[in-house]
Amino acid sequence: MNFTTALLVWYDQNARELPWRGSRNPYVIWVSEIIFQQTRIDQGTSYFLRFVERFPDLKSLAAAEEDEVLRLWQGLGYYSRARNMLFTARHICENLGGTFPSEFKSIRSLKGIGDYTASCIASICFGQVHAAVDGNVYRVLSRLFGEKAAIDSSRGQVLFKKLAQGLISHDRPGDFNEAVMDLGAMVCKPRNPVCMVCPVSRLCKAYAMNMQVELPVKAPSIKKSASVMNYVLIRQENGIVIQKRRGKGIWNGLYELPIVAGDKGNDELVAECRTLYGITVESLKEIRRIKHVLTHAELDIRFYAVEASSSATHSGKSLLFVPTDRIKEYPFPKPLVDFIDSLDEC
Ligand code: SF4
Repeated sequence: MNFTTALLVWYDQNARELPWRGSRNPYVIWVSEIIFQQTRIDQGTSYFLRFVERFPDLKSLAAAEEDEVLRLWQGLGYYSRARNMLFTARHICENLGGTFPSEFKSIRSLKGIGDYTASCIASICFGQVHAAVDGNVYRVLSRLFGEKAAIDSSRGQVLFKKLAQGLISHDRPGDFNEAVMDLGAMVCKPRNPVCMVCPVSRLCKAYAMNMQVELPVKAPSIKKSASVMNYVLIRQENGIVIQKRRGKGIWNGLYELPIVAGDKGNDELVAECRTLYGITVESLKEIRRIKHVLTHAELDIRFYAVEASSSATHSGKSLLFVPTDRIKEYPFPKPLVDFIDSLDEC
């Protein structure tokens, strides 16, 4: 029995039960694939269920406010995914007659949809023969073929896509893609592959050569940049002052406390609060410091409680006073969510 047949026989008996399994609705598959690109199944399933309950189709998503979409996404990180989904839903509704495209090339041309997601949608929903290659698939294939090309190099990505495309079932392309992902998640696990129960062990080079732990190979990681962010907590009556983050960063469109960037002493912070926000600071005290690690950066985030004698307004900024009981209506990045959740202790 070849790899493809053995895999599909195994899949028919062992497929994971997931809320979107069995669906051929491109909207549902799109949402699931975008959510689970950077998120584990156990962490992301409740997000998926909440998302499709609130936005069951393209039309409801296209009509949504960005704030609400980001709030549902809050905690998942990589917020550009949510912003792109909203953009694409609106684009399909306004320019493509409200119907999700069915051809791989058209799907791939949508904002926020890369080769992997387009391949999933095209194969699962429309039966097209496009292999989807994600982290699970890289791992299975590099072990199966004993292939040492780095999975995060462009050479490796082209190579593994070609290998997957050479194996994919032409009768059941969607099932094949889901089967390789399931094999990677359930059997060919990153640290402890369960080769004894693997349906393709007799075809696997890594197993034959006892090289499972050495594969897949990754390129040496790039050193993360470090930056300091000082958040200023200004309480006024029964609420706090926040602002919407603008610009190109990953938290663009989310809300945050007034911020001063850089490793600053108290006097500098006081001066910048005046310059940036028109706030006359009477006293300032550091109340919490956390490290937050992103893919390419390590953030040293410091929170300061501030007593201010003038109201926090400045013509160049859009500061917003929000009563404490309405703060959860606004989407915040994860470190801010944790801080705001513990505001009673501050
Ligand atoms: S035999 Fe082991 S290493 Fe090879 S594909 Fe199966 S689980 Fe992975």
